[in-house]
Amino acid sequence: MKIARLWLKIDNLVECQVCWRKCRLRVNNVGVCRNYVNLDGKLVHVGYGVLSAVESRPIEIKPFFHYWPNSTSLTFSGYGCNFYCPWCQNYHISFSKLPENPRRIMPEELVEKAVKIGDNGLCASFNEPATLFDYLLDLFQLARKHDLYGTIVTNGYFTPNAIKELIEAGVDGFSIDIKGCPTSRRAIASIDHLKVLSNARMIIDLGGHVEMVYLVVTEFNDHEECVEWILEKHLEFLGADTPLHINRYYPANVWKTPPTSLTTLMKIKERAEKIGIKYVYIGNVGIEGLEDTKCPNCGKILISRRRYRVTYFKLDEDRCPRCREKIPIRGRYIP
Ligand code: SF4
Repeated sequence: MKIARLWLKIDNLVECQVCWRKCRLRVNNVGVCRNYVNLDGKLVHVGYGVLSAVESRPIEIKPFFHYWPNSTSLTFSGYGCNFYCPWCQNYHISFSKLPENPRRIMPEELVEKAVKIGDNGLCASFNEPATLFDYLLDLFQLARKHDLYGTIVTNGYFTPNAIKELIEAGVDGFSIDIKGCPTSRRAIASIDHLKVLSNARMIIDLGGHVEMVYLVVTEFNDHEECVEWILEKHLEFLGADTPLHINRYYPANVWKTPPTSLTTLMKIKERAEKIGIKYVYIGNVGIEGLEDTKCPNCGKILISRRRYRVTYFKLDEDRCPRCREKIPIRGRYIP
């Protein structure tokens, strides 16, 4: 357990400043994510180092397609979340409380494990990394000293101060879910999706790498108005070069509508490309070609992927070998 870095004292309450929930807590109260508690008038990160899983995984599975292609990252998760999406695939950890008397895995142990395995970096994934915020700061600072990259897969609801701290600590890859739009109100209705987009913009401005993920959930964010809003805001906030992963949803937890149809996914991809987004992928369908990177200028296939591994890589430094178009890729390709 550790005294948290970002909080304010307001009268007899403490306000957590890690994410936009900004939970205000009386003594002994726990935040929405169940990882921060007001103990004796101080905000304490009780989830520090309490991990639900640790395993080496390809970076493409996150998904990151323009970041250290074909590398592996030691991927880890905690417990809890600040959103509670009813279709969450990982609800068994995201909706659960911290275990009683847990073993804490200290940053040194995790970094040592990544180095021993030969992973190229670390990735906080599976549940929302905001739950591990103070742990991440210590972990990624240490990881950087061992030449390991730092990445997170997040709903992007951090406060701007938290984003700055993460980047200063060494996180430079952010896979961010855009969950919905102002008209997708049935679930997670209190979320301000514009905050997610402005955070993503801020990360890019601070030099970080961003890839956006749009999980198209049947009867939540798949109506035309919502699709348009998400695509237009992507372009407006993040520009044409920021990759967009349009992913198929499958029923999970309490959300039981049918999986997203391939037709819907293809239509969204077509629309995204038509308005100018250059790197658009369709994920969770397992159809060859839909996860290839093509040169947006001449159409040449530059990177092919299959089952989350790179099967073909043809870039001349960061340029298309045929027409010399510059392709945004962060980090090295690992053969
Ligand atoms: S990180 Fe947790 S405790 Fe802090 S504001 Fe967000 S949900 Fe609340």
